[in-house]
Amino acid sequence: MISAPRGTRDILPAESWKWAYIVKTASETMKDFGFSEIHLPIFEHTELFSRGVGETTDIVEKEMYTFNDRGGRSITLRPEATAGVMRCALENNLCVQGASAKLWNWGPMFRHERPQKGRYRQFYQIDAEYLGVPGAMADVEVISLSLELFRRLGLKNLEAVINSVGCEKCRPLYRKKLVEYFSAHKDELCETCLDRLGRNPLRILDCKKESCSHVADGAPDIYDSLCDECREHFAEVRAGLERLGFSYRLSKRLVRGLDYYTKTAYEILSGDLGAQNAVAGGGRYDNLSSAIGGGKVPGVGFACGVDRVMIVMEEQGCSFGVAPEITAYAVALDDASRPAVQVLTYDLRKAGIPAECDASGRSFKAQMKSAGVCRFACIIGSEELSAGTVSVKDMKAGTQENIPVSSAAEYIKARL
Ligand code: AMP
Repeated sequence: MISAPRGTRDILPAESWKWAYIVKTASETMKDFGFSEIHLPIFEHTELFSRGVGETTDIVEKEMYTFNDRGGRSITLRPEATAGVMRCALENNLCVQGASAKLWNWGPMFRHERPQKGRYRQFYQIDAEYLGVPGAMADVEVISLSLELFRRLGLKNLEAVINSVGCEKCRPLYRKKLVEYFSAHKDELCETCLDRLGRNPLRILDCKKESCSHVADGAPDIYDSLCDECREHFAEVRAGLERLGFSYRLSKRLVRGLDYYTKTAYEILSGDLGAQNAVAGGGRYDNLSSAIGGGKVPGVGFACGVDRVMIVMEEQGCSFGVAPEITAYAVALDDASRPAVQVLTYDLRKAGIPAECDASGRSFKAQMKSAGVCRFACIIGSEELSAGTVSVKDMKAGTQENIPVSSAAEYIKARL
């Protein structure tokens, strides 16, 4: 037996309708915030991610599913959505001459990480990107959108954590300060962080290992290195969030794993997830478009992990709306009635009533058992067949009536 690859899962019917609820809620929330849905390719040219996400990030160095296609081109299964959205906006001229675009999408992402609870190799993200606006109001739009989505889904025990990671003007100075500081604590850093020291020292702030984390606590504060523009931007984002009534925690150690962030970086953490506790993350990325060869298009966005949102919603007993169910089950009393039962079932479906019938020749008793979990059983036997009627049993009202088969849909609808 061939099994699914490690780190992937099948989303079965018992769960899939709950996923649909999350995506529907996201779709409605996006609409209310003026975001339009787009669909993007699941694979892109590898350079999009190596140049966009950053050569020295964990994603690009260790986690991408990259292969040569039959034409010998290097292709990568998308590990995240933002670079693809920016490519799409540039390629389709969505942000020319100062135009802005609010775009959202959802679907699978692929990262070769070590699987654990809440961490998969194929996982799903709902992603929103606001392109073309450099000011802090756009950041507030995006952060409030993500928090509103979680409010509508009924998630509790969440914490928004924000930081500013500076820009190309002030980050080099901060980087220098970090290298000086961490170089003086080399013997306390793990192998990975020693490696990061020369290439991407900001990522040391992110390390979960205890000794690195301890050293990082004493690291220079990024706020002291921010240029005036970044400092002002950050203050405006914070004031904007406060005006909307959101509380948040500042964290100078939140740097996130992707190079393209400038200024705002944020995460939304759940108190009910264990080690993989981020349900969403995002921020501003004003240099991404030039990194992938476009003009200057600023952007800010977030991605929410649907797999993790599912786990939290289940654990917190959140509502997923109404589970799909069959309203009417058409039952054949004898073999001669089976064709009429299928016709009736189709008529009910055409009228928008979820209906089902048996297609495998099961006995009357077995059919009635299936009908037992539905609201209506619609029984046809030889008498009904010759009279053109159906016997409709309403399980809730405890009634049974013989009615013309042509009026069955109307009859049922009137009682729902
Ligand atoms: P990132 O693209 O790394 O900023 O991640 C954004 C969100 O996607 C995270 O907050 C998680 O909720 C989710 N996520 C990221 N990686 C994984 C993974 N391997 N498995 C499940 N969810 C993930």
